[in-house]
Amino acid sequence: MYSLPKLKYELGALDPVISRRIMNLHYNRHHATYVDKLNSAIESVDGLSLNLEDALANLETVPESIRAAIRNNGGGHYNHSLFWSMMTPGGTQVDDKMTTFFKDNFGGLDEFKGKFKESALSVFGSGWAWLLSDGEIVTTPNQDSPLMDGRSDILLALDVWEHAYYLDYENNRGGYIDEWWGIVDWGYVSERLDS
Ligand code: MN
Repeated sequence: MYSLPKLKYELGALDPVISRRIMNLHYNRHHATYVDKLNSAIESVDGLSLNLEDALANLETVPESIRAAIRNNGGGHYNHSLFWSMMTPGGTQVDDKMTTFFKDNFGGLDEFKGKFKESALSVFGSGWAWLLSDGEIVTTPNQDSPLMDGRSDILLALDVWEHAYYLDYENNRGGYIDEWWGIVDWGYVSERLDS
């Protein structure tokens, strides 16, 4: 049985970048629903034991009757669990290692932010923008993840579904992205680059 991961901050702590109202809906309803549906899908197959990361990376091994449910709800659980971990109230400083990473791969942090924003804005409809450990920026539709392309080396994940920002930013996805940098936990991102 999967369950909602505990947040390392209060629901209202990311305000005003992400309001308590959005966090409550996003975490307690959207993410909770992904978890419930993921568990229901697993329970619907007798005797199935499933490692979520392996299943998402190898969807063809998942029983066909629940493959779409695992992709959407399992992906939703995996993606949101990462997303919550990558944020912290007020954000944290970019350390020397990450500064070097951005310099080597993009010319600098600001250049990275510009490229990442451009990619996140290019997502048509619902999806995610990702930074991978080799400096690649990719996007996925819906709740798909880089895991499905064999990439587990995820450094950063940004949810650009409208449910992530519409109540605070209306249709201004770019404004949401600009403000989001202020709550990124770069220390956590840096740890992921190590592992
Ligand atoms: Mn979401």
